[in-house]
Amino acid sequence: MPACRSLIASQLFLAAVLSAQTAAPQAAAPESLDSVLWAQTSVEHDAAYLQAFRIARLMLDRAQADRTWTAAIEQSAGYERLPAAVILDVDETILDNSPEEAQKVRSGPTTSLWKEWVRKEHSTALPGALEFTQYADSHGVTVFYVTNREAPDKPATRRNLGQLGFPLNTHIDPILCRGEKPDWGSDKGSRRADIAAHYRVLLLIGDDLNDFLSGVHVAPDERRRQVSAYSDRWGERWIVLPNPMYGSWEAALYSHKGELSHQEQVQQKYGRLRVIDP
Ligand SMILES: [Mg+2]
Repeated sequence: MPACRSLIASQLFLAAVLSAQTAAPQAAAPESLDSVLWAQTSVEHDAAYLQAFRIARLMLDRAQADRTWTAAIEQSAGYERLPAAVILDVDETILDNSPEEAQKVRSGPTTSLWKEWVRKEHSTALPGALEFTQYADSHGVTVFYVTNREAPDKPATRRNLGQLGFPLNTHIDPILCRGEKPDWGSDKGSRRADIAAHYRVLLLIGDDLNDFLSGVHVAPDERRRQVSAYSDRWGERWIVLPNPMYGSWEAALYSHKGELSHQEQVQQKYGRLRVIDP
C-alpha cells in the first residue's frame, strides 16, 4: 500500500538522518570517547567533585586553626605567621573544558582548538568549585590560581573566572600563568615557591600530579612512587580531582614523547594494558 510504503520510506529516512548525526567520524579517537562522555554525563563525575571540595572545606577549617600546617613542600620554615592562601589549578579543577575535548572526538585528535576555546570564555564551573573558593575567600584566605594556560590567555581567563563568580583578589594578581616570568615553566614548583614566600599554603587542589609535585614527567612507575612518598597528604593537604581526558598521566604512557605521531602514541598505550594473559 502506498501509505505503508510511505511510512517505511520516512522511517528509513529518519534512521539515515540519525545515523549520520551520531556516526563517529573516521578520524575520531575512540580512546577518548568514553572519558569525555564520563566527564560530561556521569553523575559519578559530579559527585567526585562535590566530594573533593567538601573535603577541601573541612580541611581548610583545620588548616586555618593550625599554624604549623602547610601543604606546599616548597614551604619548610618561617611560614607560621604568614597570611593564609590556597592554590588551585584551573582547567578540569575548577573550570570545565570538556566541550573542547568533545569537539576533538568529533573532528579528530590532532585538531588543536584550545586557543579558540579559551578565547570564547565559555568554560563553566565544575561542581563545588565556586562554593569552595568563595568559602575560602570569605574566611580571609587568598585564593591563587596556578594554571598552565599561557600568559597571553590571561585576560580571557580572568574574565571567564570573574563572570562565573570566582574570587579574584584585587590587591594582588591571583592568576599565575605559564611563561609569565622567565622561570615559570610548565612545572608549577617555581610558582608554588613564589606564593610560599609570602603566604602559608593551606591546600593544593588539582587534577594533575604537576599541581602538587615537581618533576612528574617521568615513567608511570616513578610517578606511582612519587604519590606513595606523600601518601599522608592526599585527602588532607592535597585534594586531587579525576581527569580521564588528558594530563601528565596520559603522556607518561608514551614516555612524554610529544613528537610521536598519534598512531605511535596509541600503539605505546596499548602496550601498557595489563591483561589476563600477557
Ligand atoms: Mg588541570
